Amino acid sequence: MNRKIAILGSTGSIGVNTLRVIEGLGDGFEVFAITAHNNAELLAEQAKQFKPAYVGITNPEKEGELGEALGDFAGKILIGPEALVEIAEIAEVDTVVTAVVGAAGLAAVLGAAEKGKTLAIANKEPLVIAGELLTKIAKENNATILPIDSEHSAIFQSLQSGNIDEVSRIILTASGGPFRMAKPEDLENVTLEEALAHPTWDMGPKITVDSATMMNKALEVIEAVWLFGVSVEKIEILIHPESVIHSMVEFVDGSIVAQLGTPDMCVPIQYALTYPRRKAGISSPLKLDEIGKLTFEKPNYELFRAIGLGFEVAGKGGSAPVVFNAANEAAVEKFLAGEIKFAMIVEIIEHCVNEHRHLANVSLEELLKADTWARKEVESYVVQRAAGSGQQNT
Ligand code: MG
Repeated sequence: MNRKIAILGSTGSIGVNTLRVIEGLGDGFEVFAITAHNNAELLAEQAKQFKPAYVGITNPEKEGELGEALGDFAGKILIGPEALVEIAEIAEVDTVVTAVVGAAGLAAVLGAAEKGKTLAIANKEPLVIAGELLTKIAKENNATILPIDSEHSAIFQSLQSGNIDEVSRIILTASGGPFRMAKPEDLENVTLEEALAHPTWDMGPKITVDSATMMNKALEVIEAVWLFGVSVEKIEILIHPESVIHSMVEFVDGSIVAQLGTPDMCVPIQYALTYPRRKAGISSPLKLDEIGKLTFEKPNYELFRAIGLGFEVAGKGGSAPVVFNAANEAAVEKFLAGEIKFAMIVEIIEHCVNEHRHLANVSLEELLKADTWARKEVESYVVQRAAGSGQQNT
C-alpha cells in the first residue's frame, strides 16, 4: 500500500526537496496533499506534476491566482490558514511533513499528533515551543514523531543501535557558524552580509542569522530534550567545522555511534519517509578520502552566550522555550531590517528570558500568550535601549 504523504509548506526549500525525494523513491510513496502560504504559481505547478488529492493555500488573497494557475485540477482546493489543520487531520494521510516557518503550523502539528499520524518535523518551532505538549499528545495517541532537522535525524539514526536508557551522552555537532574564530569585539560590528554568509549550509536568512549567533544550536538543544526524552545534562555541543558528522550518541559502554553524510537535507527527509526501512534515493554518497580529516573543538560559551542560555531554558521548560524562541524571532527580524546591531540579538533574548514570569505545565493558550509577551517586550526593550544610548551620546 502507498504511504500517503501531506506536505505542509511544499514550496519552501524543505517542501521542494521532499517532493524531489518522493519522486526519487518511486513506488510506495504518494503525495496526497500539499500546501503553501503565498507561492500559488509553484504550488499549482507541483499540483500538476504530483496530482495530490488536496491543495491548500493559507493566504486567502491568493485564492484567485491559485484557481487560475491550477486550471482543470481534479482535487480539492482549501483556502485560508485552517487549511493546514484540515489537511493534517485527513483520515487517509499517513505521514505529515511539516515545514511551515514560525508558529503558523503549530495547530496542524498538534492536530496530526491527536490523530495518531506519523509526523516528520522539519522546522524547529513545534518541538521548541510546544515540545512538552506535543510529545504528550503524541504518546497518548500513538503518533510517531520523526525529525528532519539534520542533527536530530543523525541522533535518531544513531539511537537505533541501543536503548534510550543506555545513552550516556548526546553529542550535538555544530559547524560553529561564520564567526567561530571571531573575537568578542568583532561580533559587535558584524554586518548583515557577514552574518548571512554561512560556510557549509545554504539556508534562508532567519536560519542563517541563527547559525551566526548559534541560537540555532541552542534551539536544537531544546528540540533534542523533547524529541528524545533525555535530560539536558546528557546533551553536549561539539564544534565540528566540516559538518560531515551530523551528530552522535555515546552509550554507557563508551561506544559512540555517529551518522555521517553529505550536507544534503534530502538524507534526513528521506529517512523520515522510509523509516524504519532504508531505500536507495537521490543523495550522493560521502567521499571520505576526499574530505581527508575531520576536526572537533569545544564551543566558545563566552563568545556565543546563546548556547548557555539554550541549556538554561531547556532545563526550565514550561514557558521559557517559547519566550526564548519568540524573542529571537523578533530580534532577528529587527537585525535583518537594519534596526539593531548583531550583538544586540542575544542581549535582547537574555533580557526577555530573565524578565518573563515563568509558568510550568503550559497549555497552548498560555504558550501563545507568552509568545506575544516576548515580542512586545522586544519592541519596548529596543525603544528603551535606543533612548538610553541617545542620552549617553549627547
Ligand atoms: Mg539543524
